[in-house]
Amino acid sequence: MAVTEPAPVSHPPAHEGILRRQALRESAARTYARSLPIVPVRARGMTIEGADGRRYLDCLSGAGTLALGHNHPVVLEAIRKVIDSGAPLHVLDLATPVKDAFTTELFATLPRELADNARIQFCGPAGTDAVEAAFKLVRAASGRSGLLAFTGAYHGMTAGALAASGGAPDVGVTRLPFPQNYRCPFGAGGERGADIAAHWTRYLLDDPKSGVPAPAAMILEPVQGEGGVNPAPDGWMRRMREITQERSIALIADEVQTGVGRTGTFWAVEHSGIVPDVMVLSKAIGGSLPLAVIVYRAELDLWQPGAHAGTFRGNQLAMAAGAATLAHVRENQLAERAGTLGARMLARLQALGADHPSIGDVRGRGLMLGIELVDPEADPLTVTAENGSAPPPDPALAAAVQQECLRRGLIVELGGRHSAVVRLLPPLTLTDEQATAVVDRLADALRAAERSPYRRAVAGPTR
Ligand code: PMP
Repeated sequence: MAVTEPAPVSHPPAHEGILRRQALRESAARTYARSLPIVPVRARGMTIEGADGRRYLDCLSGAGTLALGHNHPVVLEAIRKVIDSGAPLHVLDLATPVKDAFTTELFATLPRELADNARIQFCGPAGTDAVEAAFKLVRAASGRSGLLAFTGAYHGMTAGALAASGGAPDVGVTRLPFPQNYRCPFGAGGERGADIAAHWTRYLLDDPKSGVPAPAAMILEPVQGEGGVNPAPDGWMRRMREITQERSIALIADEVQTGVGRTGTFWAVEHSGIVPDVMVLSKAIGGSLPLAVIVYRAELDLWQPGAHAGTFRGNQLAMAAGAATLAHVRENQLAERAGTLGARMLARLQALGADHPSIGDVRGRGLMLGIELVDPEADPLTVTAENGSAPPPDPALAAAVQQECLRRGLIVELGGRHSAVVRLLPPLTLTDEQATAVVDRLADALRAAERSPYRRAVAGPTR
């Protein structure tokens, strides 16, 4: 399909009908569709067009998947090439030239120390499946079963990944404090807060009476995404590397969302310079199509044949689209671009915060940005220990901002513990003008939401 300038589509009845049938037929567990009543029919770059002819700037990007935006020409060309070549589309985990090229391109982007001695496992095509694979790998290699994971983490929706995310009980997962500047669990924030968090981790691991099951690995996100855009300080990352290395605990970096240039470096671990033992990769590596892998130090490769199988581990179109995406990001220095543009947007959002007491915090790294909305007039009695000195989060305002953004043609995501963090995950290809438009529309939406009567009427998580 050649997508140039989309012609207006004017079938509002179709739009309404599709949404109505979705509400009737799809599961109660559906997520984004609840807060974003859009019926996308065409998309290019950062723009999505709905069946009602309306256009949106997409700052959700498939939950951070679309490094190059929608339907980028290099991605479409790579997909077409595979189709036109007559290559099989389904191959289980057999070797193919397409897979070979993808692996070569991926290894070229990895931290050298890892790439020189790495193995790759192609997983079922979802981040959560790759997280499960990583846990199996480290458990098989170490003979230990415990896992260390962090407060606010998100690793997926299968049972093991969910347990590591704090969403299901699992005796094997020990939860450690992730440093948070704004709502520091120790009431300190900044370097001091990160220092205490690291100290607690070290203390717990060395306490013979801690009750912590012997850990096979520690899993962390260099920037927590779904948890509300919490960037890990570089110094803290290095300490986690030291702590795990000293105790022969594998370090798993979950770069499902932070990878492929999103945070300003190709992989977010590069900011701190650490080299993890395992990296979990998905989302952007498939260039819009489903793909998930783990890459890891060869010495860990001690699991048995078939230890992590799956029918759909050979998605040729995703590998071709992914290889083209990785190459395009690398050749066009899009990680650097994400860093520069992200810093500019962050500064503008922080300036907006100066005029809006309802903006509690603005944070992020590269083009992974978060604006935490709070209720500055909340009853002081609701200011609990969890909130520290910060006003309580305001999920109702965040939901109202999301709806006001939509009315202004801007798609944003909500995240964080209370769904009070407005998240921006634009494609790395966004232009200066689009970046300005995003912040302008968001500022306008915030002003409208602050005035709106439903500000306090709606609440609750969107997922
Ligand atoms: N890890 C992280 C850091 C993620 O952000 C996500 C998805 N948001 C996952 C794992 C799970 O990926 P998937 O939804 O593809 O299973």
